[in-house]
Amino acid sequence: MKLISACLCGINCAWNGKSKISPKILELVKSGEFIPVCPEQLGGLSTPRIPQEIQGGSGEDVLAGKCKVINKEGKDVTAQFVRGAEETLKIAKLTGAKKFIAKSKSPSCGCGFTYDGTFSGTLIEGDGVTTALLKRNGIKVISSENIEG
Ligand code: SF4
Repeated sequence: MKLISACLCGINCAWNGKSKISPKILELVKSGEFIPVCPEQLGGLSTPRIPQEIQGGSGEDVLAGKCKVINKEGKDVTAQFVRGAEETLKIAKLTGAKKFIAKSKSPSCGCGFTYDGTFSGTLIEGDGVTTALLKRNGIKVISSENIEG
């Protein structure tokens, strides 16, 4: 089995209450080998929710306690992000999933790049919080961009 960001499968779990559906990815999901997960919902955040970004660091920095995830209204949502990552890892372990197809640029699911925390659309190198925790635990993470082309 493989995990996949639920918003890519048409689940309306993104911050704005919509999905990030991708026809190419939907074809993959039809194989029946994918478990959709939304770490932000698993961490207890509501949908829709205020946009949030990692503040000047990566998901690995968040896990190390070196920086926080803050929403656009200034609320600290770091605990929910870490909880969502841990719950997603739990699902991976329960199902034996060794791969995660991850929505690009997300502060949870992003792989390789995330926004810098200024809410200006500026990307910096680094993974989202869930991606960082899954990688730490030996799960291969593939960014959705690499599938959508
Ligand atoms: Fe999609 Fe991941 Fe954001 Fe959930 S946390 S909406 S699965 S990118």
